[in-house]
Amino acid sequence: MIDDDKPHEECGVFGAWNVADAAAIAALGLHALQHRGQEATGIVSHDGVRFHSHKGLGLVGDNFGDAKVMAGLPGPRAIGHNRYATTGDTVLRNVQPLFAEFEFGGFAVGHNGNLTNAHTLRRALTRRGCLFQSTMDSEVFVHLIAISLYSTVVDRLIDALKQVTGAYSLVALTNEQLIGVRDPLGVRPLILGRLPGADGKAGWVLASETCALDIVGAEFVRDVEPGEIVLVDDAGVQSVKPFGPQKPRFCVFEYIYFARPDSVMEGTPVYNARKRIGAQLALETPVEADVVVPVPDSGVPAAMGFAEAARISFELGIIRNHYVGRTFIEPTDQIRHLGVRLKHSANRAIIEGKRVVLVDDSIVRGTTSQKIVEMVRQAGAREVHMRIAGPPTTHSCFYGIDTPERGKLLAARNSVEEMARLIGVESLAFISIDGLYKALGKPGRDAAQPAFCDACFTGDYPIPVPDHSEAGEPRLSLLAELG
Ligand code: AMP
Repeated sequence: MIDDDKPHEECGVFGAWNVADAAAIAALGLHALQHRGQEATGIVSHDGVRFHSHKGLGLVGDNFGDAKVMAGLPGPRAIGHNRYATTGDTVLRNVQPLFAEFEFGGFAVGHNGNLTNAHTLRRALTRRGCLFQSTMDSEVFVHLIAISLYSTVVDRLIDALKQVTGAYSLVALTNEQLIGVRDPLGVRPLILGRLPGADGKAGWVLASETCALDIVGAEFVRDVEPGEIVLVDDAGVQSVKPFGPQKPRFCVFEYIYFARPDSVMEGTPVYNARKRIGAQLALETPVEADVVVPVPDSGVPAAMGFAEAARISFELGIIRNHYVGRTFIEPTDQIRHLGVRLKHSANRAIIEGKRVVLVDDSIVRGTTSQKIVEMVRQAGAREVHMRIAGPPTTHSCFYGIDTPERGKLLAARNSVEEMARLIGVESLAFISIDGLYKALGKPGRDAAQPAFCDACFTGDYPIPVPDHSEAGEPRLSLLAELG
């Protein structure tokens, strides 16, 4: 059900050029990026002459574990996409990569992020006769490229990019090139890596995170820069920067929660960043306690940093069942409550009779924290204190992280004291925004020049927010195409 006015997209992208079995490499890369999207997945390969595509709902392993499917994706070039979307339109035509036939040949594209003027553009394009096949904002790119009057693919792409606003990391595949693009502020990540080529020449990889390079044994080359287009072909990598220089605003929530801890983002290992955030949190919000317990898995590195800095022992007082998906995937509140119980259990031997500090990365709706605290109390905790490794989430994200509408964010409606009462803890505290910046190696949040996009914590949106209210939600008329 679409129950609010914001998009729900979180995605991972991958691309490979001139590597043996590119689709298999893409499937491995997407498997490493599974945390960025579990709802659907797709790969488009190119064998030098033709494109081949396979998409499906569900996990990468469920869709690309079959030899017959992989045999249908031949060639040394491929792009892939993992999608997480909780809108009602869970249909195959909303699964990426998108593919279109243009005058210049085939064009496949996968997108991580969200276009904030997609509705206005879509309405204008529909009036011009463009026939949309999906409800995805990313399809706007395809139509803008199709109607562009420029002749080369790259000029058409630049023409399209100059008309969109929002956050986007794109991978695209044409007959001639693998293309990677990051939006001018570099909100979402994209990296370039290298692999031995299929024919003695270099092979190249693009991915949302470095963990996708590690799984395929690729060497990290560099981050794609904010506002940069990289064009990969057999001659190597060319870089085009069509936008004027702007101060980058990388998403700070990638460090706090979203990225995998073994990834390195913008030169900073995510695991180290999380530990430093935890240490800073301990410094800012000290508490007398017997044991520091992470809410697994997302709270683990921050809790380690906290415990180390506070000199309190770190223990696994909550055990996570790994065979249940993320809480957010469950669509109704009722199931979400159930999901939390399915996912976590209290380790009574660690908790009973203790003053416990629970460390988690964020409180969004507050459902997880409420249930966890209840569970820890039932296991005999004497006191429960909660420490959060991000500032209060007071605003929705419109740039590619799934957060509910503002009214459902616990911190948007309640003070920290009220939140503590609702969650049922003796004390609750969050890291400060300046403390977060400090932990990430920045002197503090400079309001004039913030180093990150931190809109979910500050409401300072660096890119205009969506134009939904004006244009209304696009909807598929035919919703039956499930499976
Ligand atoms: P909630 O019950 O809504 O407060 O959920 C908060 C928990 O969900 C946190 O412990 C996070 O680990 C996790 N979380 C935070 N943001 C997201 C997100 N965008 N998608 C999925 N899970 C999230």
